[in-house]
Amino acid sequence: MDPALGPPDAMAEKRDELTPMMRQYHDLCARYDDALVLFQVGDFYETFCGAAERTARLLEVTLTSREDSTGEYPMTGIPVDNAESYIEELLEAGYRVAVADQIEEPGESPGVVERAVTRVITPGTLTEDELLASDDNNFVAALASAEGAERTLALALLDVSTGDFLATSSTSSEAIADEVSRFAPSEAVVAPDASGDPLPEDCMVTPFDPDAFALERATETVSTYFGEPDALLAGDAEIRACGALLEYAEYARGGTSENEDTTDEEVERADRDAGRLEYLTHLTRYDPREYLLLDAVALRSLELFEPRAVRAREDATLVGVLDETASALGGRALRDWIRRPLLEPDRIEARLDAVEELTGSVQTREHLHELLRDVYDLERLIGRISRERANARDLRSLRDTLAVVPEIRDRLADADCERLRGLRDELDPLADVRGLIDDAVVSDPPIEITEGGIVAEGYDANLDELRGTARDGKQWIDDLEACERERTGIDSLKVGYNSVHGYYIEVTNPNLDAVPENYQRRQTLKNSERFVTPALKEREDEIVGAEERADELEYELFCDVRSEVADEVERVQALADALATVDALVSLATVAAQYDYCRPEIAERDGDEAIDGLEIDIEGGRHPVVERTQESFVPNGADLSPERRLAVITGPNMSGKSTYMRQVAQIVLLAQVGSFVPAESARISPVDRIFTRVGASDDIAGGRSTFMVEMDELATILREADERSLVLLDEVGRGTSTADGLAIAQAITEHLHDEVGATTLFATHHHPLTELAEELPAAFTLHFEVEQREGEVVFHHEIAPGAATGSYGVEVATAAGVPEDVVERSRELVAENADEPAIDESDPRADPQGRADEPRVPASTDGGCQGLPDDVAAELRELELAHLTPVEALTELDRLQRLLEE
Ligand code: ADP
Ligand code: MG
Repeated sequence: MDPALGPPDAMAEKRDELTPMMRQYHDLCARYDDALVLFQVGDFYETFCGAAERTARLLEVTLTSREDSTGEYPMTGIPVDNAESYIEELLEAGYRVAVADQIEEPGESPGVVERAVTRVITPGTLTEDELLASDDNNFVAALASAEGAERTLALALLDVSTGDFLATSSTSSEAIADEVSRFAPSEAVVAPDASGDPLPEDCMVTPFDPDAFALERATETVSTYFGEPDALLAGDAEIRACGALLEYAEYARGGTSENEDTTDEEVERADRDAGRLEYLTHLTRYDPREYLLLDAVALRSLELFEPRAVRAREDATLVGVLDETASALGGRALRDWIRRPLLEPDRIEARLDAVEELTGSVQTREHLHELLRDVYDLERLIGRISRERANARDLRSLRDTLAVVPEIRDRLADADCERLRGLRDELDPLADVRGLIDDAVVSDPPIEITEGGIVAEGYDANLDELRGTARDGKQWIDDLEACERERTGIDSLKVGYNSVHGYYIEVTNPNLDAVPENYQRRQTLKNSERFVTPALKEREDEIVGAEERADELEYELFCDVRSEVADEVERVQALADALATVDALVSLATVAAQYDYCRPEIAERDGDEAIDGLEIDIEGGRHPVVERTQESFVPNGADLSPERRLAVITGPNMSGKSTYMRQVAQIVLLAQVGSFVPAESARISPVDRIFTRVGASDDIAGGRSTFMVEMDELATILREADERSLVLLDEVGRGTSTADGLAIAQAITEHLHDEVGATTLFATHHHPLTELAEELPAAFTLHFEVEQREGEVVFHHEIAPGAATGSYGVEVATAAGVPEDVVERSRELVAENADEPAIDESDPRADPQGRADEPRVPASTDGGCQGLPDDVAAELRELELAHLTPVEALTELDRLQRLLEE
């Protein structure tokens, strides 16, 4: 048990003797025993005992102590005013944080100040802007299962800050695991029956009341939010996951007061009502099969959100290139589109139409972009408003956003395509809400909502009257000085104010004789005396009373306005959606224009029964990310169809194989996002799933370079791929001996070709595979040629039909500066070993299909060793080529050569 959690032992032993405040702390710790309790005492959040020691160390703040009649307790405090950065560190250290605020002013009622946990901050339920990335969602997940003919596993995902709420389920727990990686939740609550199902490492698993997952209770929870769950969700597993997740979100919202008189049950019931999250207005159930499936491996290797190389620039990702959004709303929408590319041609075309139209008009696009920059994060704003955490400035931000909506509508007024016209109609300017805020809230309100200065003049007659009273009073006082000077004849008489004594009349010592009867002495200073009069006191009481009542009334009025706005949560959310979509579309159009992308043609999908493979026809394609980091990028095409669906790609290291394969996959993915693509032209049939397997040698950054992982991923591909899958295999079969590796690569190729029928790009250093490709009817070869110029290798990065003529390892070694004699000797050895199967010595360009007339047989691995002494041959055979760098290989050759000479 972590000593920072739960009630401290030192207090638990003598709970009843503790001072009332420490008893309160003890009880809150007991109630929130899986969270670190931050206990507000004035301007600080304090922690005590074990928690104090832990926070002091973690946050590098001073450990002090508190002493009272019952003992001495270690104590650490962090300032309330900038608690956020400290809380962030506690979260990073793996803690949940329960924030216990003072919920009444000290002295408001007798006894100890009342405190309550107003929020439980956990990685997945953050709502504070300071702790959240603005352009990405932050999800908390729930997993639950249901037994039927087959076990179903459900996943619910909620972004508490924006109200995005999704649910899905599948009989395949792998499919659910893929969805989990797609949304990358930062926290999860898991039903006992789903605890065996895997979650990513960086996802915090939170223990949560198993009863919340009970079907009956979950059904009730879901229906209080969304009505009958059966109409909305598919099956019991989804209901259980959604119900528990809602309860968890309510729990994390906090908001209950601690009252010793109530029983636990009462507290629990009160909690549930108080915690209801009104801004959770919709729950979207989806089927993973509606979207292009990308598992964790594909997400990583296609560099959608994170660069693969450790040293890469952080924005060297697909989203880094595509994100030209102006608002946080748009940024999140775009990420969701990239995370879930579409399958349905109609939906893809609708986005493409809009992008095309926006690409066509620079003016519209730029103007929209400018307008969208003034759009606040409406989703989080309305969330805060609904949770009663918004201040007057938030309302003004909402109002300022609403003010640009009519202009955005105007800009879309002559849109041709249906999508944009539809969006125009969805852009509800919420004139009523804007009017209400305009009328009620001043244009530059203070941050505090209890100290007045918020509500506009003319909004409320009572408030105006109170303010009038205060104003009149002040005016009377302002006039008093002149009046009294005249009456008393004291020209230096002054009227002033101080916070202890209130208003006073000040008379300097030489004039004291002239002070009238009705002046009452209040304060004696060195050179003067201060007085009051009954009339002044009366006015003062009037002013203070009116101001106090005005502040209270303003607070009430503000809360009313806020809750009136909160009632419109659904309309605000719909507006936010529409704005987000416009922003994401404008971003795609901007990128398309800026980088010269073209509109892809989307090939119709055949009805499900007549699945017959994919068509991917790209001319002049470029890698969207690499082309941004490269001075010049060489475009390459791809022509894949059911008849030519398996390409074996060869070429020396660094010639461009990996880049080429990823570029094909990214172009396909972009097309399905509804984006234009980096190519001269592209015709694409929507792909159901992209699989990637990047060989161990190429995945060092990922730190998963074991042969076992490679085989595991391959197994998944072979099991799950079908005719509508796009498979990228990059240097598969490297993590083992050459003979094994080749055998595996060959068997995989045959299987993919004969049984699976997936569209496959296979980059390999196993040259015999090219011969296999020539035998298989739907397979063909591609290669990257390099040129040797003055002993140096020149990479053209240009793909061509046919197989590569050699591996150029020796040339690369020259370029790397390996000594000349070693290089020479390697050339000799290469020549000696050349009775290895010749791989297409003719110019492959002469044979566009890359098909040799006669099929050739893969080499026996012994071929090159004939005529060598046994010991050298044995050593050669045992060399693990896969684990040697070119330089090591040369060194090794050099040694063997010496051995031969001996
Ligand atoms: P391989 O997989 O054949 O070893 P890569 O695809 O990793 O080669 O490419 C190596 C480098 O060559 C890339 O990092 C990139 O800098 C450059 N490159 C690849 N393809 C192209 C291209 N089409 N145009 C320009 N440069 C390219
Ligand atoms: Mg490579």
